[in-house]
Amino acid sequence: MLNFSFQNPTTIHFGDQQIKKVTKEIPSTAKVLVIYGGGSIKSNGVYEQVKDALNNHTWFEFSGIEPNPTYDTLMKAQDIIKKENINYLLAVGGGSVVDGAKFIAAAALYEGTDPWDILLKQQPVKQALPLGAILTLPATGSESNGNSVVTRDGDKLAFSSPKVRPVFAVLDPSVTLSLSDRQISNGVVDAFVHIMEQYLNYSVNGKVQDRFSEGLLLTLIEEGPKALAEGSKSDLDIRANIMWSATMALNGLIGAGVPQDWSTHMIGHELTGAYGIDHARTLSIVLPSVMKVCRENKREKLLQYAERVWNITEGEEETRIDQAIKLTEQFFTSMQVPTRLSHVELDESHIEGLISKLEQHGMTALGEHGDVNLEISRKILMQAL
Ligand code: NAP
Ligand code: FE
Repeated sequence: MLNFSFQNPTTIHFGDQQIKKVTKEIPSTAKVLVIYGGGSIKSNGVYEQVKDALNNHTWFEFSGIEPNPTYDTLMKAQDIIKKENINYLLAVGGGSVVDGAKFIAAAALYEGTDPWDILLKQQPVKQALPLGAILTLPATGSESNGNSVVTRDGDKLAFSSPKVRPVFAVLDPSVTLSLSDRQISNGVVDAFVHIMEQYLNYSVNGKVQDRFSEGLLLTLIEEGPKALAEGSKSDLDIRANIMWSATMALNGLIGAGVPQDWSTHMIGHELTGAYGIDHARTLSIVLPSVMKVCRENKREKLLQYAERVWNITEGEEETRIDQAIKLTEQFFTSMQVPTRLSHVELDESHIEGLISKLEQHGMTALGEHGDVNLEISRKILMQAL
């Protein structure tokens, strides 16, 4: 196992009627900015619950954070923060709202000239406004990690800082019942790929991390399709298991002390930045190709994955690996997400543009060994046609 330091200070309030915990989590003297997206929280009753919880607080609101939040929209929040002396942020929504609130929190106290440098030049976040989250879409793990992804003029970039990790997060599975099938699929697939990117690497004998990861993968494989099926789609136990899996997938635990390979995410970001494809749908296209192109690097783990997750114990090694990749693709298909660039109407003529963007963004040494250079990324994209 590799050396690691692990700390996850986000308090999780999980379950029915937990939104009311916000009342005590946020200091009564705080001036709060409630941040949300396009209005789903107004039609599913979450906004009313937030209003009740903040009944005795001074609070303001900032809405309109779009999926794949943009720098331009997020910077508009700075006016109200300054004008009202806001000193606490409450993000209410999916990963985009939570990620957006993190950038707003860091930008508010940024000492440099342009907060975009936090992403573009990876300038460190020295301080940020405190942030709480009410999660409405299980997917990203953003509710208890320090990561944020922001888009500006087609450039989708990420930053990470412990300063923007939410102080607390409320996870009430019942608020996910209003999600569309598309967003349920996206969430399950995003979480699945987060686990794979921390699991499917060279082995360092991290048995604890491996078993956690395999348990989470099995849970998503079992529960994901049920959350889409008529007859079980309103089952709260299914929603609860998916919600907790998605948080555990990217809260630092399974990634502590093991190598990580975020090439699927980084290549996927270019697909969203250039063509607006939903985040998870870029991942379901790219991951199977990464598994194929990087199979030598990942051989031992691919065989372990085949056996422990898909129960494939017989046959030649190559055949077992092929079967595991095929079953992964079939799982994505059962979750109604694309697995090929052609499924989203992209072809070979689009690949060079994506490679240029990867180069421009410094994504030239991806993978657990840093050997996924532009040539390998091109192979991965070609393989995904
Ligand atoms: P999202 O972009 O936050 O939300 C997608 C859509 O779902 C929005 O239109 C939203 O509507 C709607 N929605 C959310 N909750 C709902 C509910 N309970 N009922 C009905 N509709 C609801 O989706 P996401 O997948 O959670 O976040 C994706 C973003 O996170 C991407 O930018 C991705 O790159 C990023 N990401 C971050 C991390 C990380 O570690 N921080 C990891 C992976 C991905 P409203 O706007 O109306 O609420
Ligand atoms: Fe993701």
